[in-house]
Parts: sequence; structure tokens; C-alpha cells
Amino acid sequence: MERSLLHDAWDREHLWHPYTSTIDPLPTYKVVSADGVRIRLADGRELIDGMSSWWCVIHGYNNERINAAAVSQLQRMSHVMFGGLTHEPAIELGKALLEVAPPGMHNLFYADSGSVAVEVAMKMAVQASVAKSGSHRRTNFVTIRSGYHGDTWNAMSVCDPVTGMHGAFGPSLPIRYFVESPSVKYGEEWCQEAMEPLEKTLREHADEIAALILEPVVQGAGGMRFYHPQYLVEARRLCDRYGVYLIFDEIATGFWRTGRFFAWEHAGVEPDIMCIGKGLTAGYLTMSAVMTTREVADTISGGEAGVMMHGPTFMANPLACAIAIESLKMLREQDMARRLGDMEASLRSMLAPAREIEGVADVRVLGSIGVVEMTDPVDVGRFQVECVDRGIWVRPFGRNVYVMPPYVISDEELATLTGRMIDILKDPRRWKA
Ligand code: PMP
Repeated sequence: MERSLLHDAWDREHLWHPYTSTIDPLPTYKVVSADGVRIRLADGRELIDGMSSWWCVIHGYNNERINAAAVSQLQRMSHVMFGGLTHEPAIELGKALLEVAPPGMHNLFYADSGSVAVEVAMKMAVQASVAKSGSHRRTNFVTIRSGYHGDTWNAMSVCDPVTGMHGAFGPSLPIRYFVESPSVKYGEEWCQEAMEPLEKTLREHADEIAALILEPVVQGAGGMRFYHPQYLVEARRLCDRYGVYLIFDEIATGFWRTGRFFAWEHAGVEPDIMCIGKGLTAGYLTMSAVMTTREVADTISGGEAGVMMHGPTFMANPLACAIAIESLKMLREQDMARRLGDMEASLRSMLAPAREIEGVADVRVLGSIGVVEMTDPVDVGRFQVECVDRGIWVRPFGRNVYVMPPYVISDEELATLTGRMIDILKDPRRWKA
């Protein structure tokens, strides 16, 4: 098939793709449609999707029920401002979300994307700290290394300083406190010494810190690390002791991705503020939410500002809300714990052969996340040519080659996806940067 059908010259010349050079862009493959777990390219080829379009398409593409919910809402109203107005989709979704959220969550703020949710969560923590203390002293943040929280200014500032964007933005970014990422991995025996770096930073600097922000259990785009849930239990205890709020960024981990509805459930400790996004709208539209306790919400409202200082144009977009409601219904109707348990077991056995390959540093699986960590960086462009040639879609980053497929993938498709991925990894000429 003609190459021009796959790679659009105008696109290459004018459209910016994520983290891409305009001088020497990586190839981008033109998609014409997607259905279930299959992405159809302009040349007619189909790819089995291992990415859930950056982890959000949980029920697969072109889902009949979600399509119908979207059409039905579209015919009533696709959008109306949320300032001074409200609507049933926002209310119904809010109720459904608070039902599945940590029990302490009481107030919910709809935002437009994961990064914006992180901004809002950080603003909440600062506003609440300022209101509580009557001073602007506690306005900084502490986080763990290898994290990723998004691409906006404050979100960037708490991303890992090495793998994140600190190099590019230098002193223009606010300076945060970083502690070593949790040293005890998921499944290993807990060791209390793992808390020392966080404890030390809080002991020395808590009076400058509004909140600790972290991704619970799974650190995604900052390194695909899985850590021991006890870290969260201990972090909660330290936050309480030092009067620091605790923010869980569940944007990547939510909606069953780690085998639980939300990853906090692995530890059973609640945050003060929690961000959700990605799977919230099943990959149909951009929307996120920030939930918090009544204490935080009322502290903000009792402060000098008297209100939460944020209000995006597309706040609580009814179309996105209607889609999210239908997606949540679908999750509720299925035995998702069992589905994710099955996916985890399949991924474990299917990825096990990768351990024997030279150049593989580690293979790990949690819920529907399967990671093959290489000893050397992977050449994304070259790796993806091999993937597309084999009819699969996997986009590695750094040294991590991973799959996070839609939950509707069949065992056979999962075996094809992982088998072909492993095949590529067997030959370093096909992946090594
Ligand atoms: N937090 C986490 C944990 C994420 O994984 C991401 C996106 N990968 C974000 C925040 C940012 O979300 P968005 O890309 O929707 O702004």
C-alpha cells in the first residue's frame, strides 16, 4: 500500500504531535476508524491496540452504549456554562463518583484534563493551608521521584526532575521538595526504612509544605514503577503528624487499571484530595475531576478568598458527563475485579517469556498493566515501525515497553499483542536506540 496513505505530508509539515520535533518528527500513522481493540489505518491495515490511547479507552473504541449515551445527550445540549447553572448529567455523575470514591470525599470539582485536575488539586491544598494558618508560609509541595503529573506549569514542577521537563524549563519552574521514590517494590517485603527520606523532608520543611502529591501504588509516565501500598499508609501517618495535606493523583490508576477501582484501595488509606481523569470518560472526551473532604472544602470557603479560585469554560461539560455516567454503569454491571484478575494472570504468563531475552531488565504486571523494562533506551520510531508491520500498537518510552489494553481485549488478542511485542524485543536491532 502507498506510504502517502499512512504518513500525511501536510500533517508532518504543520501539525505538532506530542513531544515532537518539527525538524525531524517521528512517523505518525493515519487512522481512519477504531472499533473494539482495533485501530484501522488509512492503508486498510488493522492494529491491536495495547495502549488504550494513553490509558483512557477502557471499554474499547466505538462502543455502542457510550455512542448512544453521547448522541442522546447531544440532542438535548452538548454544553452549558456551569457558573450559575447546573444540570442532571453533572449531578448524576457526581453522585456516582462519590459512591465509588474514598468514603471521606465530599466535594467534587470538574476540570478539563488530568493536568488541570492536578493544578486544581494543588490550588486547593494551597488555599486550604493559607486559610487554616492565615499566612502564605505553607505553599510548597513535596513529592516522590519518578512521578508524572501532567504538562501544565505546577504539574510539571512535581514531575520527576530527571525524566520530566525540568531540564527544558529550568528556573522558570517552582522549586519543590523531591524525595527518593519508594524503595520497596509491590510484592516485596515491607521495610520501614523506606519512609526515611519522606520523614526527613517533612521533619525539616513541613512548615513550608502544603501537601504531598503522589500517584498511589503505580507511578506511570515517570517510570512505570509499582511500589508497596504500605508506603501510602505510612505517608498518610506522616502527613497527619506534620499537618500536610495528602493528594492522590489517580488519573492513570483509576477505573480498575491496577486491579482495584482506585489504587488507594490497595492500601486502604484515604487522601485529602484526589484527582481522576483518563478512564473517567472512557476515552471519548477530555474531562477530569478533583474530589476532596468537607474539611478541605469548608476551610477554603472559610478563608479570606472565600471561594475555590478556579472555573474552566468547559467545567462539567454535559456531553462528557453523560458519557462518563454510561461508562460507570458499564463498570458497575460487570464483575470487574474478576475481569482484571484474569487480565493480570494472562499478562503474567504471556509476558513471562520476555524474562529470558537479553536486554530485559525486569518484567512486571499489575492489573491490566504489563511492563517489560529494558536495560537500554528504546528507539520509539524504529520500534513502532516493527509494531505496525506486525499489526499491533505499542508506544514505549525511555526503557519501558508496556501494554495497557482496553478491558474488552480477548485472551487471544492479548496473546497476539504480547507475543508480537516480545518477538520485536528478541532482536536488539529492532528496538535499541
Ligand atoms: N497525572 C497522571 C498520573 C497522568 O498519567 C497524566 C497523563 N498521562 C496526567 C496527570 C495528565 O493528564 P492529561 O494528559 O489529561 O493532562
